[in-house]
Amino acid sequence: MKKKFFIIDTSAILSGKPLSFPDATIITSPGVSDEFHPGGRDFQRFELLKETGLSIQMPTKDSLKMVKQTAQKTGDDRRLSPADIEIIALALDINREEGQEATLLSDDYSVQNIASTLQINYQGLVQKGITKKFKWVSRCPGCGKQFNEIKKICPICGTETKNHLSQKKKL
Ligand SMILES: [Zn+2]
Repeated sequence: MKKKFFIIDTSAILSGKPLSFPDATIITSPGVSDEFHPGGRDFQRFELLKETGLSIQMPTKDSLKMVKQTAQKTGDDRRLSPADIEIIALALDINREEGQEATLLSDDYSVQNIASTLQINYQGLVQKGITKKFKWVSRCPGCGKQFNEIKKICPICGTETKNHLSQKKKL
């Protein structure tokens, strides 16, 4: 039987679903970890996950490159955050080792799309309409403008933007 790994993204952590899997290792990436700040919402949940065995690993450069190339082909490259690319690349790293099997836990459509293209197992967590909604936004560190979609470069001042998660209020 293959050793199982679950790789979780920010949406999986925010889903509020229990994320403990017997006989499996749970991993996430530094980019996902960076989404959780002391004092911020869901920081404690993230800390608790780390205390109960969540490990943070950096994917290899080769895998990161393969994910970026695949995303360009499928047209998902503009919708994937650096953290998204990292978790997909982690899955590639794990699957490359004999006797290991990775499953991505993500509700992000682009992550699922790339996973499917690269023949990586994935599962969604959130059932529509039940959990909180959130979306990625970009903020320009140069001029401070926020964009309601992912932009790599600020169209106003040309600075490279930073992506972060914005939670929509419940209706
Ligand atoms: Zn700007």
